[in-house]
Amino acid sequence: MKYCKTCNNELPEDNDRHLECRHCRYLKDKANHNEYVKYWSQRPENQERIRQQRRKFKDERYAIVNAIKAERGCADCGIKDYRVLDFDHIEDNKEIEISRALSTRLHIDRILEEIKKCEVVCSNCHRIRTIERRTYERSVKKSL
Ligand SMILES: [Zn+2]
Ligand SMILES: [Zn+2]
Repeated sequence: MKYCKTCNNELPEDNDRHLECRHCRYLKDKANHNEYVKYWSQRPENQERIRQQRRKFKDERYAIVNAIKAERGCADCGIKDYRVLDFDHIEDNKEIEISRALSTRLHIDRILEEIKKCEVVCSNCHRIRTIERRTYERSVKKSL
């Protein structure tokens, strides 16, 4: 019987090539890979490439989200210019701030999930909504 030189678990009978079990080899490969990625991303000659990749990643996310804004337009006044449009959570169920999440590495699918909870509104209508909500909440409090 042979044993893994790292974790000491028994090696399967048909394993005559390796001194380590499959799991330990997997962990080591992964660590080597991570080391390499780290090394690569610190090399000066790769910085421009990394900058481009980051920009591309960001541009693609913004393009997807801006297309949704432009397509839906403001729910209140109908304006379709994505530059003035924002997402408004219609219920009290906000988990992420979409505009902020866009500049992080958060998966775009998660952002699109969050967008489903929102209406698209322009900044003017958004301001009006906020004021009206505040007035409504105050009047509710008063009537209690
Ligand atoms: Zn092992
Ligand atoms: Zn509007």
